Amino acid sequence: MRAFGPHLKALEDRNHTFVILHLILQGMVYTEYTWEIFGLCQELEFSLNYLFLPYLLLIVNLVFFALSCETNPGTITKANELLFLQVYEFDEGMFPKNMRCSTCDLRKPARSKHCSVCNRCVHRFDHHCVWVNNCIGAWNIRYFLFYLLTLTASAATMAVVSTVFLVQLVMVSDLYLETYVDDFGHLQVVDTVFVIQYLFLTFPRIVFLLGFVVVLSFLLGSYLCFCLYLAATNQTTNEWYRGARAWCQHCPHVAWTPSAEPQVYRNIHSRGLWSNLREIFLPAVAHYERKKK
Ligand SMILES: [Zn+2]
Ligand SMILES: [Zn+2]
Repeated sequence: MRAFGPHLKALEDRNHTFVILHLILQGMVYTEYTWEIFGLCQELEFSLNYLFLPYLLLIVNLVFFALSCETNPGTITKANELLFLQVYEFDEGMFPKNMRCSTCDLRKPARSKHCSVCNRCVHRFDHHCVWVNNCIGAWNIRYFLFYLLTLTASAATMAVVSTVFLVQLVMVSDLYLETYVDDFGHLQVVDTVFVIQYLFLTFPRIVFLLGFVVVLSFLLGSYLCFCLYLAATNQTTNEWYRGARAWCQHCPHVAWTPSAEPQVYRNIHSRGLWSNLREIFLPAVAHYERKKK
């Protein structure tokens, strides 16, 4: 996005760094789970269905990850330009009629945007996601939402399994009934701080993994809620961001060119919850092309 300025220019090289980092992190979490937690949980007689759930979520997640990476987000070309121009109405504010993309030399359909990373115009552009190294647009937003949902679910499941394991372990070992001798030679009853220290020293990798997946669950969960809100109200991240900027025109940190007219963002595309969700899962042009046949 041009508005972010040159400091994000480095991210604009379309490379696979974040895709590889994503797979490495996911690989590390699942290796630790398989190597340590899975076996220990089996010893504590956890249900196998419950222990296999993270693997099931991983498989589904990788399928949607691949679909998000590989699916054409809705690239606008000379061949489909006219078709896309008919999909959404122009609002004469954020998306005026008869705008051209000088790079692609195409007329800009409403709700489209030129992605500077991929160097193409995308229909119903949402954002460019570095983690899947692709634009998210009309044709792959549904895969992206399922990808995000399963990623959040696998992090949350991992967090629950690790927490239940550590709690069970403390219960089974009767750790709370024990006493220990402190630095001053006094006999002390085991308290929560002691238990946490004990777990950290005995299972450092599991405690570290738990911290990581808990933080991840909250971050992904919040982002998922935001994406679902946008889907339910038929907005793209691009429109939401530009709408928020228009609202924030008095904020001193937002630079406004003196000649710029204050934009008031009005969501003209929302047609009610079910209709909005149908638009995500049955994108307009694919639908339109099917009708024509
Ligand atoms: Zn373009
Ligand atoms: Zn892109």
